[in-house]
Amino acid sequence: MTGFPYKTLNTILRERFGVRVQKITLDAGLTCPHRGSDRKGGCIYCNAQGSGTGAQGRGISLKEQIEEQMQAMKRRYKAKAFIAYFQSFSNTHAPLDELKTIYDTILPYPEIKGLAIGTRPDCIDEDKLMLIESYTPERLVWMEYGLQSAKDETLLRINRGHNVRTFIDAVTLTSHFNLRQCAHVIIGLPGEDMDDYLFTAQLISSLPITDIKLHLLYVVKDTPLETMYRLGEYTPLSQKEYVQAVAQFVAHLREDIVIQRITGDPHADELVEPKWALDKGTVRRAIHEELASSDIIQGCMVG
Ligand code: SF4
Repeated sequence: MTGFPYKTLNTILRERFGVRVQKITLDAGLTCPHRGSDRKGGCIYCNAQGSGTGAQGRGISLKEQIEEQMQAMKRRYKAKAFIAYFQSFSNTHAPLDELKTIYDTILPYPEIKGLAIGTRPDCIDEDKLMLIESYTPERLVWMEYGLQSAKDETLLRINRGHNVRTFIDAVTLTSHFNLRQCAHVIIGLPGEDMDDYLFTAQLISSLPITDIKLHLLYVVKDTPLETMYRLGEYTPLSQKEYVQAVAQFVAHLREDIVIQRITGDPHADELVEPKWALDKGTVRRAIHEELASSDIIQGCMVG
């Protein structure tokens, strides 16, 4: 676990590629099937950017995004290897040929050693997975599926637009392909407490999931969650509550699952609350101190 009491992404990337690997975050210009007029307006915490960079909206092509970010990281970190992360909205929400054109944008760049595709679990099928698998074995390729909570009543409350069964089905289907799969979970969803977080950790641990990203729920401007917050219907977690929840989650998470992220990453200009979320370094340090003082290593409470 190289210094951390949990398995980090850097560890497996270094094992596979022998060098530090930097992630470049891409906006392919796709949308989300849950935000269209035929659906119910999206998750309550999501704004018009769909958790993305908004680069396409600023007229920056995929090729430009790739080259600009790689150049910047080569200058800053002397980086030699990269993961292309299609992050914004749902990156499987298009016909197969359009998706192929999008993903193929990485092919001229041999230094892109990995491909990560973020999407919803109700936006995947066998044909799309076959296409995505075709980018292996030369590259490390993984799917990123949002679960957020293993409780159906919470998914309803946050207007997630799919249930837990849909997530399990997507993960089961994906497990038949040569792909890693990363689950996204949010700590601090309305109505949830420690028992719910641990229930989610247990479900994730029981599935063929290889990676996880833990996010803090934060209130972003111009979202239904902001309205709930202003009306006093939602109170964000304190840093202490978040840190304790993450530590217990790690304790209840299967030890081989790579924890790719343990904090949120809000944009300062969009964030309403909690402001402490902006200081990621302090949050990470507090989590590491909590893990150490509670003698927690990943999976130590898995039964
Ligand atoms: S699935 Fe993602 S992009 Fe779609 S509404 Fe929910 S948070 Fe936004």
